Amino acid sequence: MSAAELALRGARVVGHDGPVDILVSGGRIASLARPGEAAEAAREIAAGGRLVIPGFVDSHIHLDKACLNGRCGHLQGGPGGLKAAIAAVSALKRDFTVEDVHRRGARVIEKAIARGTTHMRTHVEVDPRVGLRSFEAIRALRRDYAWALDLSICVFPQEGLTNDPGTAELLEAALAGGADLLGGCPYTDTDPAAHVAALFDLARRHDVDLDFHVDFDLDPGWNHLELILRHTEAAGYGGRVAVGHATKLSAMDPAVRDALADRMAGAGVALTVLPATDLYLMGREADRRVPRGLAPLHLLAARGVTGSIATNNVLNPFTPFGDGSLLRMANLYANAAQVDPGAFPLCLDLVTRQPARLMRLAGYGIAPGNPADLVVLDAAGPAEAVAEIAEPILGFKAGRASFERPAARLLPP
Ligand SMILES: [Zn+2]
Repeated sequence: MSAAELALRGARVVGHDGPVDILVSGGRIASLARPGEAAEAAREIAAGGRLVIPGFVDSHIHLDKACLNGRCGHLQGGPGGLKAAIAAVSALKRDFTVEDVHRRGARVIEKAIARGTTHMRTHVEVDPRVGLRSFEAIRALRRDYAWALDLSICVFPQEGLTNDPGTAELLEAALAGGADLLGGCPYTDTDPAAHVAALFDLARRHDVDLDFHVDFDLDPGWNHLELILRHTEAAGYGGRVAVGHATKLSAMDPAVRDALADRMAGAGVALTVLPATDLYLMGREADRRVPRGLAPLHLLAARGVTGSIATNNVLNPFTPFGDGSLLRMANLYANAAQVDPGAFPLCLDLVTRQPARLMRLAGYGIAPGNPADLVVLDAAGPAEAVAEIAEPILGFKAGRASFERPAARLLPP
């Protein structure tokens, strides 16, 4: 066997007790060896006992409506909240051009790459207002940044399907044009049940996965999750369906919530929590004791639900914050959900391995034969990485260096 092109030595890898050397050949992980056992490689890098991960997996982000803060000045002093955010973007997106969406999306993708993200699923709005312009821009971004990031495109009807003539045809066109999967948003449709049924029908005809925005309020009295569970079971779609937000889960009686969690685990419906958006938009009706409105994902994950913590929105009316760091999202979740430090490693899992499972990524993980997607974090282990929002200092995509962010250095007098 020829010499490896890269050796990343002394790496801490989840699932391995001591430090390991990661050998890379032909863009793939050739082997994992105990320190000192593997021959020299063309390029030698010392990880110094730092944690190395296969990159963060952002399973839910909206690149098409990112970086709109400056354009939403009319919202200042307004009511805020979810409806106002949807209305603000609805008005703006009529003027979106392919170039505009590409520019804003690229800004976020570059931030995410530099923060260690190697895989991403972006939701893209498709409807008669914006047509396929955002989709076309995102499709170009998928090609332009393939050197650092695998981008999966989920097209969806943000403003409803059955109430928005022409939208179904546009979704079909996007699927024919290279979209990877379908999203849904039953709470904005005048007929949520028909919305969900139509999307399951469309997904089955195109053999694509589904990812819904659901139950984005704090009323425990009703939900769309059970509707999606029934369709998933009936369609035999277990493992191919995810729901995002489901903030109602934070307002339910714990016994009811646990029963729903068990049904989700059994049916194979995954849950994505979007802490930056959920915390920013929920509970606005309260003038004191504001509820956090965050689905308790770590409790659901403990019952076998596949989970994901993701970014959702960046610098727009839904979330006027964001630097593309998924580790910041894991930390924000852990903090707001009052997660015990013993479960910090689970929080890292919820931005790496579990969203990879949610997205059914093939070849994700630091194991021989997989693409050499590797990100070095300035931390000794998962708990420390989550607690301190460790800096990603170096990244590789398929064995090629994709970013570097040298550790800060103090300059004493
Ligand atoms: Zn979303």
